[in-house]
Amino acid sequence: MKFRFPILIIDEDFRSENTSGLGIRALAEAIEGEGGEVIGSTSYRDLSQFAQQQSRASAFILSIDDEEVSEAEDGGTAIIRLREFIQEIRFKNNDIPIFLYGETRTSAHIPNDILKELHGFIHMFEDTPEFVARHILREARSYTDGLAPPFFRALLEYAADGSYSWHCPGHSGGVAFLKSPVGQMFHQFFGENMLRADVCNAVEELGQLLDHSGAVAASERNAARIFEADHCYFVTNGTSTSNKMVWHSAVAAGDIVVVDRNCHKSILHAIIMTGAIPIFLTPTRNRIGLIGPIPLEQFRPESIRAKIEANPFARAALEQHPERKPRILTITQSTYDGIVYNVEMLTDLLDGAIETLHFDEAWLPHATFHDFYRNMHAIGRDRDNCDESMVFATHSTHKLLAGISQASHILVKEPKARKLDRHIFNEAYLMHTSTSPQYAIIASCDVAAAMMERPAGTALVEESILEALNFRRAMRKVDAEWGEDWWFQVWGPDEIPAEGIGSQADWMLQPNEDWHGFGPVAPGLNMLDPIKATVTTPGLRMDGTFSQTGIPAAIVTRYLAEHGVIVEKAGLYSFFIMFTIGITKGRWNTLVSALQQFKDDHDRNLPMWKVLPEFVAKYPRYERIGLRDMCQSIHEIYRDSDIARVTSDMYSSELVPEMTPSEAYDRMIYRELDRVGIDDLEGRVTAVLLTPYPPGIPLLIPGERFNRTIIDYVKFARDFNRRFPGFETDVHGLIEEEIDGETVYFVDCVRTRTV
Ligand SMILES: *Cc1c(COP(=O)(O)O)cnc(C)c1O
Repeated sequence: MKFRFPILIIDEDFRSENTSGLGIRALAEAIEGEGGEVIGSTSYRDLSQFAQQQSRASAFILSIDDEEVSEAEDGGTAIIRLREFIQEIRFKNNDIPIFLYGETRTSAHIPNDILKELHGFIHMFEDTPEFVARHILREARSYTDGLAPPFFRALLEYAADGSYSWHCPGHSGGVAFLKSPVGQMFHQFFGENMLRADVCNAVEELGQLLDHSGAVAASERNAARIFEADHCYFVTNGTSTSNKMVWHSAVAAGDIVVVDRNCHKSILHAIIMTGAIPIFLTPTRNRIGLIGPIPLEQFRPESIRAKIEANPFARAALEQHPERKPRILTITQSTYDGIVYNVEMLTDLLDGAIETLHFDEAWLPHATFHDFYRNMHAIGRDRDNCDESMVFATHSTHKLLAGISQASHILVKEPKARKLDRHIFNEAYLMHTSTSPQYAIIASCDVAAAMMERPAGTALVEESILEALNFRRAMRKVDAEWGEDWWFQVWGPDEIPAEGIGSQADWMLQPNEDWHGFGPVAPGLNMLDPIKATVTTPGLRMDGTFSQTGIPAAIVTRYLAEHGVIVEKAGLYSFFIMFTIGITKGRWNTLVSALQQFKDDHDRNLPMWKVLPEFVAKYPRYERIGLRDMCQSIHEIYRDSDIARVTSDMYSSELVPEMTPSEAYDRMIYRELDRVGIDDLEGRVTAVLLTPYPPGIPLLIPGERFNRTIIDYVKFARDFNRRFPGFETDVHGLIEEEIDGETVYFVDCVRTRTV
């Protein structure tokens, strides 16, 4: 495999007919003659754009000549410009070779801070261009040869090797696809390399994921070093699986476990699979439906104890085994709305009180690479080992870093008191790993980690924070220009830094601030990660009251989708976007202008057929309605049913379990069920997980009883869905059936046993 990494030359005279032009062009030709590729430029114009080229280049040659270097103290503007340029490159890249090209006299005038960044000073006309070219190419190759981390390197070598395989997968490096027309299309679309690299775990040179050996193990160690963890495991089935692995390595049937009620489905699946008895910590919610922090008091061992006492199953388990501590605590570290916890404050309370502390950092793999998030993430150089508790962090590498779908990392930080028993851990790992892992995902776990090696990782994170702030500033500017007229708001503190990225302090939640609406949060406990941006639409105020007119987010996000902007998720009057390391200025600017267009179309009440043609093609009933009228009619339904209060109450209602989740699941397996219509749900015990979208947070867990608020919500969803097809609120766990032309909803409930 030959990679393209040209050598970049920046020389004012690159196209000139003078001696220095002739000299540099002779060097460029010599490099090409030796098989290298050259890109020449005549200026540093747009410094930072050029420095971005560091990821595409294998070396820089920067020219400077005698006339440019003055006797001034600072070496004059040429030196200043050179220094800035080199700093810009080194901000991201410590290793790429940089050569200075100039006259002999010049080198004496180059300050030390620049000299130490150079791989050489090339004196014009001292050596032959061919000799210099070979020297530069050698350095450039040794740089690019060092780029690939261990597993990816081994995979490249294997794919290049061209050996015939008799092992699976059966497509034999893609050849099977070539025997069919549709297979040809597949092959051409995904390309030969993807298929050549799709190998099976019989290939010894690549090591084994399942027992963490060879090149895979080397890469896992490399990633552990980069994330500054004691161990790192690559997982090829997403953090859904990473979470189950952590749980199965730490939890047995009947164990008491402490879980963030705002947790991902995979944690609930883990509860069911392990047969654990969950105690829930309840996050706050504000009046516009955003999920806030779990109050600090709830993490105190006394209050966890009180919850155990209040739960009949947990109490019984504790009476049986008074010596056992709660086995695991799982916290969603970075909620879906971007709230993170100070992990030090949590471990101060919990170290030793709970055996394993698990931070589900699906949305936070970037935090360890920047001081901005100091202490606001589970594992890294700023975090000490606990005394007694094992700390796990699970990362969806594919969500915020450069991983392909399902790439996930498990990080471990051992307590001072004990080591991770890797053999026992691997039993759980094997339980959830396919015996045919996808090697492209392993390579992606490897490369995503290598990309974050400092200083590059820090620079990438800084860039995404900066773009997120620039977006927020741009939205405020538009707002200021509209004056009294309406505009979208980005949820966050009232004051944001005027330029740059500011610091963590700017994003901390202070007690009782209006902007967050989470009440008396403990000082220092939480921050909003600014790269997670919740955009709010008019209609619902922070105090939970509805305004006269409103614009539900569901319509805005459909509009955006038809204009090529897909958002991460939508709430009632908010939608969510994220600034990953893949962000570009173009991307968020497109969003801002699409929102401008929406405002314009809305204010002119343009007909739906015009503004949402694809949607109207599916739902012609809305064809002639104006966009503003459409918004208003959905807004009025929301307002009349006080839906914001209902959704926030239903998530904070106290739920006493009738049985453990795993018992409810068993009942389902034995079909001890009634399929109950939603008008008859009061008092019934659900056998399934009930999850409304938005926000996608489980509402009722198997074994819990329906209460009034929850039933009101489900009925609201039914009535709403009847009135506004196409804008359905989706509730996973509801069974829809068509009866006499009407959609009727059911929930599978545990059958009441008659005694
Ligand atoms: C997405 C997500 C997961 C699951 O991650 P996948 O990589 O999609 O399997 C787990 N926890 C949280 C909090 C998530 O948001």
